[in-house]
Amino acid sequence: MNLSPDQLKLVLYPDAVLRAKAEPVSEFDDRLAGIAQRMIEIMREEDGIGLAAPQAGVSIRVFVCDVPAHPGEQPGEDGVRFATDGPIAFVNPTIIDSSDSRTSLEEGCLSLPDIRGDVIRPEAVTMTAQDLNGESFKIRAGGLLAKCLQHELDHLDGVLIIDKMSQMSRMKNRTKLRRLKQG
Ligand SMILES: [Zn+2]
Repeated sequence: MNLSPDQLKLVLYPDAVLRAKAEPVSEFDDRLAGIAQRMIEIMREEDGIGLAAPQAGVSIRVFVCDVPAHPGEQPGEDGVRFATDGPIAFVNPTIIDSSDSRTSLEEGCLSLPDIRGDVIRPEAVTMTAQDLNGESFKIRAGGLLAKCLQHELDHLDGVLIIDKMSQMSRMKNRTKLRRLKQG
């Protein structure tokens, strides 16, 4: 993939790049910053709260996320965050801790237009990642932010919500999914 970052476009299911395991990032250069910038643009154009690099056709371990704050949802005393306060890029992210409690949330995905389904995931996670300069950081997330981080991390391993959604949601989306597959 040698497209310049501004040529990157949203990739839809069933493009094979969405099923590949993405490669770790080792060069924190202008190209990486350009790709992340373009990913933020695509996420905004599509009204999303997260986008993983494979969704822009680039198989590298990067995602961006921009979860707005909800009124009344303040960061917990234990440092758990529910919003990002603007777009953040996560490079080489890893989940180092997950809550035992799991909750179900109806999720959508920009690469799966019109498909929504209930996905059960841990309610809170702690993630470490690098920023665009290669500096490590850690974030403890709950609520929608925790769901978003897990959804985007799944993309880097080729995993989509259609793999994880409830049987009922899978049934409901059967026809839409078949149409997407046919292109
Ligand atoms: Zn997605």
